[in-house]
Amino acid sequence: MNHPAPAPETPADVVARLRATFRTGRTRPVEWRTEQLRRLRALLTEKGPDLAAALHADLGKSTKEAYGSEIDFVVREIDHTLDHLAEWLRPEPAPLPAHIGDDARAWTQYDPLGVVLVIAPWNYPVQLLLAPVAGALASGNAVVAKPSELAPATSAAVARLLPEYLDTDAVAVVEGAIPETTALLAERFDHIFYTGNGTVGRIVMRAAAEHLTPVTLELGGKSPAYVDRDADLEVVAARLARGKFLNAGQTCVAPDYVLTDPETAAALTPVLARALEERFGADPQVSGDYGRIINERHFDRLSGLLDSGRVVVGGDTDRSQKYIAPTVLADVDPAAPVMQEEIFGPILPIVTVDGLDEAIGFINDRAKPLALYVFAASEETRRRIADETSSGGLGHGLPLAHLTVSDLPFGGVGESGMGNYHGRYSIETFSHRKAVLDKPLS
Ligand code: NAD
Repeated sequence: MNHPAPAPETPADVVARLRATFRTGRTRPVEWRTEQLRRLRALLTEKGPDLAAALHADLGKSTKEAYGSEIDFVVREIDHTLDHLAEWLRPEPAPLPAHIGDDARAWTQYDPLGVVLVIAPWNYPVQLLLAPVAGALASGNAVVAKPSELAPATSAAVARLLPEYLDTDAVAVVEGAIPETTALLAERFDHIFYTGNGTVGRIVMRAAAEHLTPVTLELGGKSPAYVDRDADLEVVAARLARGKFLNAGQTCVAPDYVLTDPETAAALTPVLARALEERFGADPQVSGDYGRIINERHFDRLSGLLDSGRVVVGGDTDRSQKYIAPTVLADVDPAAPVMQEEIFGPILPIVTVDGLDEAIGFINDRAKPLALYVFAASEETRRRIADETSSGGLGHGLPLAHLTVSDLPFGGVGESGMGNYHGRYSIETFSHRKAVLDKPLS
């Protein structure tokens, strides 16, 4: 006799199932949390090659880049959490005011929130899904993980592997695009952690408002790199070549554009050209270290930005391979199209300003960036930028690296997002810090 196949679980079924698990208290003990983190770590180390192959298929990432910026990144985050979790979760005593009496005690304790939804983008589809999942599990929650449909090989790999390793009563992967995400967002979660663009960020926040669900929004924007006239341009060029063109520029904290004075701009261009050749060879298209654009839509969008200035390095494209050469544009007008949106690709415009005051004004006239980079020898210049501008993070002398410091919060401000995570900040994000007062009855 033929039995009909069981109907697939709807998003509502998934959330109800996970909520039932959470209600049993199973996810709360620290032993369950550390066990899940160890299993997630085992997935990353044992199935690293599967994930690296998926990342290569989706984004042309080299194995080195797949491990460095995605797989090992999450392993480090897990190790740091396993080393410190007990200490982070320790209740914190609070001093009491005299009117309550000295027989009472007060403290804060971290409570898990419940069922958490993590929605990830395509550009670091392993890191940006699994680092928040690790934080949510470390905090004792059940988790629905929603990978990006624009990185389909990685989405499929994660959907296959997570259930092999993690507690399937408490962790679920829901794959899909807008209809599936919309259906998920109609459900009540206890926290929604979204990484992606601000337009969808607004959709997520609107849906969350219906249930009064708190959100973390990890968004993007145009992250400037200010190069002062006193900076060592060899060092600047080498670090920009790495930070901007990693993952073919599709990095939320990549330097979006260079801000500098006209003389420094002229001096920097040839040094940057040399640094790029050193990094990717004379023809980056054949370099194993240089990635590809995620899809034709983004390829076409980026190609359309190439005439926003004078091409001084790169400029070649090959649509059949979704290849855009590492490109530097000089003489870019702040009104040019490339300066109106986050570039999110391998195009580096150089915009000139007349010194530090104008640079600070330029930054403050625009949306608060996710990251701001400063290349300046002068302590006074670095201090002024730190004190007179606002950004999610600030990197003096080295792009991207601040987000690899597990003890620093990673997140945006204003248009670049709200909330943060990594290390102990993930515990703050995915827990409720409960105030407790305890006074004896006699
Ligand atoms: P994306 O298109 O993959 O979208 C992100 C997620 O939103 C996906 O899971 C997708 O399914 C979902 N989504 C898309 N449209 C939706 C809709 N209408 N309703 C509900 N859900 C929807 O990724 P993206 O937005 O192109 O990612 C790039 C952006 O993300 C850039 O702006 C970048 O700066 C930002 N970003 C930020 C960080 C960070 O940590 N702050 C990291 C990476 C990327």
